[in-house]
Amino acid sequence: MSSGADLIRDAKEQIREVDPKEVHELLERRNGEVVVDVREQQEFEQSHIPGAVHVPRGHLESRIEGATGDKSERVVLYCASGNRSALAARTLLNDLGYSNVESMIGGIALWKDRGYDVETPRRLTDGQRERYSRHILIPEIGLDGQLKLLDAKVLLLGAGGLGSPTALYLAAAGVGTLGIVDDDVVDLSNLQRQVMHSQDRIGAPKVDSAEQAINGINPDVDVVKYQTRLDASNIMEIIDGYDVIVDGVDNFPTRYLLNDATVRLRIPVVSASILGFDGQLSVFAPYEGPCYRCLYPTPPPAELAPSCGANGVLGALPGIMGVLQAIEVVKLVTGSGDPLIGRLLLYEALSTSFTDLKLRRDPDCPICSRDPQEISDEEMGVFPDYEAFCAAAG
Ligand SMILES: [Zn+2]
Repeated sequence: MSSGADLIRDAKEQIREVDPKEVHELLERRNGEVVVDVREQQEFEQSHIPGAVHVPRGHLESRIEGATGDKSERVVLYCASGNRSALAARTLLNDLGYSNVESMIGGIALWKDRGYDVETPRRLTDGQRERYSRHILIPEIGLDGQLKLLDAKVLLLGAGGLGSPTALYLAAAGVGTLGIVDDDVVDLSNLQRQVMHSQDRIGAPKVDSAEQAINGINPDVDVVKYQTRLDASNIMEIIDGYDVIVDGVDNFPTRYLLNDATVRLRIPVVSASILGFDGQLSVFAPYEGPCYRCLYPTPPPAELAPSCGANGVLGALPGIMGVLQAIEVVKLVTGSGDPLIGRLLLYEALSTSFTDLKLRRDPDCPICSRDPQEISDEEMGVFPDYEAFCAAAG
């Protein structure tokens, strides 16, 4: 029975070892050689050689072929000190049919001693790793996607029926900054659907109630509160710097204003609306798909507009539409899937049906047919008969 030290000595006799200096030169030339880090996940995440691929020794047999090309190509393995990589190199040579394998002498420790660069990727804390573990397990999100979510700045217009589920799920998902614009206070009649608020917060500003709910789920989220109404005087200042805007506003004038400002700043808007048992959802990505004005050059007749007074809505409806908004935000931030750009999703709760309509850009759209810098302050949010519009509906 040989000892561990014997085994390592044996392995080193059977393989070729290479000095860090030579590996450094290899990486500078980049001629297709593959440098493989065989250490554990945590060790790799702390720091690794730039350009190295990661195949933990425990997964060598199952993953090495995905990381390397032809089995005759040169593969250099390294670990912390050169022992594990020697054993791994022997496995590649003897058991897996690789013919040009080497192990780096002294591992990353000697590499660092020689003063060569290492890459220190951003890491999640242990708490974050546990909190977001179910995201990290999905390949389309993974660690990279989670880091993007943590870096993301998302602005919610309205902390009401739609804003409630969106805010709660985005907070849970780890969106790093959530801005909330709402000038209202929590009212008893809100609680039928605005699940972010609660009985004991009736009378409190919705932005404060929202902050409490969000940080109750995830204290990592930075909540930026705007207890105000979005209007022409403040919109550019408020929305500038956000990556995505979630639109749950309930009136047409603000929708037009928001559209024009977001086209000018090229910020995508995830927009939903609800009435009765019906919901609509779309993503307006400036210059990629249609904008709101491409679809609705003018608002509907005031008497048909649902937006200016109190209307009935099924309590759970904003729940489903708000969660769909949250999913679109996650897709936009992480770059996964196909966001609902150029499509309008209709949900009819009474019949339980989803319909997906194609939407096209209007080449003559008064806003998005032009360059962003051509859109002036004066025309933003303006549409025919603006003042008469809500007065008639009121
Ligand atoms: Zn347009």
